[in-house]
Amino acid sequence: MYKSTRGKSKEINSSEAMIKGIADDKGLYVPNEIPKIKEALETICSFTYKELATYILKHYLNDFNTEELNTCITAAYENKFEHKDIAPLVKKGDAYFLELYHGPTAAFKDMALCLFPHLLKTSLEKNEVNNEVVILTATSGDTGKAALEGFANIPGTKIIVFFPENGTSNIQKLQMTTQEGSNTFVIGLNGNFDDAQSGVKSIFNDSQFNNKLLENKYILSSANSINIGRFLPQIIYYFYAYGQLVKNKEISVGEKINVVVPTGNFGNILSAYYAKEMGLPINKFICASNENNILYDFLTTGIYDRRRNLKVTSSPSMDILISSNLERLLYHLSDNDSNLISSLMDELSEIGKYEISENLKDKLVDFYGGFATEEATAKTIKYVYDKYDYLIDPHTAVAYHVYENYKQYSNDTTKTIIASTASPYKFPTDVCKSLDISIDSDDFNTINNLFSISSMNIPSNIKALKNKNIIHNNNCEVNEMKSLIKDFLKVGE
Ligand SMILES: *Cc1c(COP(=O)(O)O)cnc(C)c1O
Repeated sequence: MYKSTRGKSKEINSSEAMIKGIADDKGLYVPNEIPKIKEALETICSFTYKELATYILKHYLNDFNTEELNTCITAAYENKFEHKDIAPLVKKGDAYFLELYHGPTAAFKDMALCLFPHLLKTSLEKNEVNNEVVILTATSGDTGKAALEGFANIPGTKIIVFFPENGTSNIQKLQMTTQEGSNTFVIGLNGNFDDAQSGVKSIFNDSQFNNKLLENKYILSSANSINIGRFLPQIIYYFYAYGQLVKNKEISVGEKINVVVPTGNFGNILSAYYAKEMGLPINKFICASNENNILYDFLTTGIYDRRRNLKVTSSPSMDILISSNLERLLYHLSDNDSNLISSLMDELSEIGKYEISENLKDKLVDFYGGFATEEATAKTIKYVYDKYDYLIDPHTAVAYHVYENYKQYSNDTTKTIIASTASPYKFPTDVCKSLDISIDSDDFNTINNLFSISSMNIPSNIKALKNKNIIHNNNCEVNEMKSLIKDFLKVGE
């Protein structure tokens, strides 16, 4: 069963938690207890991705049976990924890049968003919900497209995505504005990602607006990693990566590994923490930020202070000041102290800052925070290319830079997985600039320039973008979000 981190909502099943997205007390749903694996680690290491998906999710989706799970998992991972391994692990030097970007939108969000719509559809059937679910999502670039792709033409759902008009890469924007499917709606917001995220959160919390939608047989839900349907499937690939290390005889069963995660909303790294709590031998969680280094500050001082300006960087999916899923981690580390979490989160929303106790800070020992400047990010892309003939995108470069710093600081030689979260072809201009390759005003020419020096294929979904028409040409201010939603859903005053 699932309960809220803020302790004032009743316990519900996994299917209900996926439908609701966020709890009524504004907290995030967490399992009563993080389950432990009972199977021997050695056995799990030999599972295929899909077998592992069923195995892991069975521990969490308390009201799904195996057949339902298998149906969802097959629909999600069969034929949708361009690599047969789904999430291949690639060794370069002493690092292992876990390539999470072989799905339909070339970023790691696909790992969960291929599956989540199917889990949600099953949840709706289970709970005999006849209302249409409206997925409302704020995106810093990648979630939006992955959610659109996952939900397009799924019966019983509509999807609305707000992205920061000038906060994404051109390719990311084009991926969203060309989205097909009559149940999709995409809007550029005049503001940054935090404006979009706060706007969406306040709509979720507006009971009058929600009642209005309900009268019209709509219920709102979310595809951000605040939804358990989004972050639980991300646990799978940490186990999978570990299994590949064992299979390739890089480690022995039971040996600890480190993970480096380029972090924004703290969803991906939180999934790694869940994997460890379930029994996966993880030593350090290395949390990598870009110049929006609020998490680095937090992990080094215990003070979370969002009173600063958001910077637009070459790793836009990490341009975030409010890392929502940190709330879940603090909840677990404080032994489920929902009163504490409520008051910290109230402080964050009222004064923009909170500080945790020394005692709680001590419990963060397994988390190491680091960050990369824009200059370091560009240098890292070039370094990895020159040294290994391997292209990485700016998000992955942030992670690699922090990994190098960590090694120097710690002398830790534990085998380390780098979560490689996006295809370099999604950010061709920044990658080419880093490599001193000529860039063109037409991104597709830039992509070809990049391809000409690389042994890496261009994802077919990015190639196909060139010939797509722009379908969504909407733009709005923060205070217009609600009225646009009403227009799209044809809900009157
Ligand atoms: C979303 C995203 C991230 C950040 O992941 P979180 O789960 O939000 O921390 C990093 N890199 C890429 C490419 C992303 O799309």
